[in-house]
Amino acid sequence: MNIQVLGAHNCESQNSKFISLLIDDVLAIDAGGLTSSLSLTAQQKIKAILLTHHHYDHIRDIPAIAMNLFLQGTTTSIYATQSVYDALTTYLLNGKLYPNFLEQPPENPTVKFTIIKPHQTKQIEGYSILAVPVNHTDPTVGYQVTSPDGKTVFYTSDTGPGLTNCWEYVSPQLLIIEVTASNRFTEWVAGGGHLTPSLLERELAEFRELKGYLPRVIIVHMNPYMEKDIAAEVAAVAKNLSASLTLAHEGMEINL
Ligand SMILES: [Zn+2]
Ligand SMILES: [Zn+2]
Repeated sequence: MNIQVLGAHNCESQNSKFISLLIDDVLAIDAGGLTSSLSLTAQQKIKAILLTHHHYDHIRDIPAIAMNLFLQGTTTSIYATQSVYDALTTYLLNGKLYPNFLEQPPENPTVKFTIIKPHQTKQIEGYSILAVPVNHTDPTVGYQVTSPDGKTVFYTSDTGPGLTNCWEYVSPQLLIIEVTASNRFTEWVAGGGHLTPSLLERELAEFRELKGYLPRVIIVHMNPYMEKDIAAEVAAVAKNLSASLTLAHEGMEINL
């Protein structure tokens, strides 16, 4: 399994992009940095896009990629929970801001939308996909993706602390988890459904207690203004836990 980190941050600039992961060139998770990171041809190769929640930094490129596919007469499939579907169809794919690619072109709409339910494994493009609810301000799921050859990654998306329930459902070799802010903001972000390095440490300790191991950990969704502090604090967590924790960056590739 090849995982490309297309976007790893919660702010966009020439050096940082909103969150997006791409697995084996065909399966995308979240759409914050899809079109700005990929050639038109690479966008056309994406067979399915999984969305974790409806926040703008995770869905932003859906209309843009749809326009590319529409112009080429091709299609893609989007998978998300009911609440994401409701938000997308109310605010973004509603025919007002841009064409409604769920209905255009009428004979073969560009975007096929499938609603997924948490805790039910679904086969998508040969991968086993399991959506697991996490603790964010709006309904959010993380995705566990298992490839045909048994490689497994779990991406939490945006989440605050309290992941014990979530850990019960997943057993990844690689954990991609968010750390949005540095420890100085621990109290502030926990209420907003995000993690800091110290909150992450507790969640990982809980994971190890429950599962008997710790997977390799990649950190995403950093606030670029706090990244230096986050990096130093994450290094301390890695030392405390004797674990492998790495901050992601745009263009990073991970092979499982
Ligand atoms: Zn969010
Ligand atoms: Zn976010």
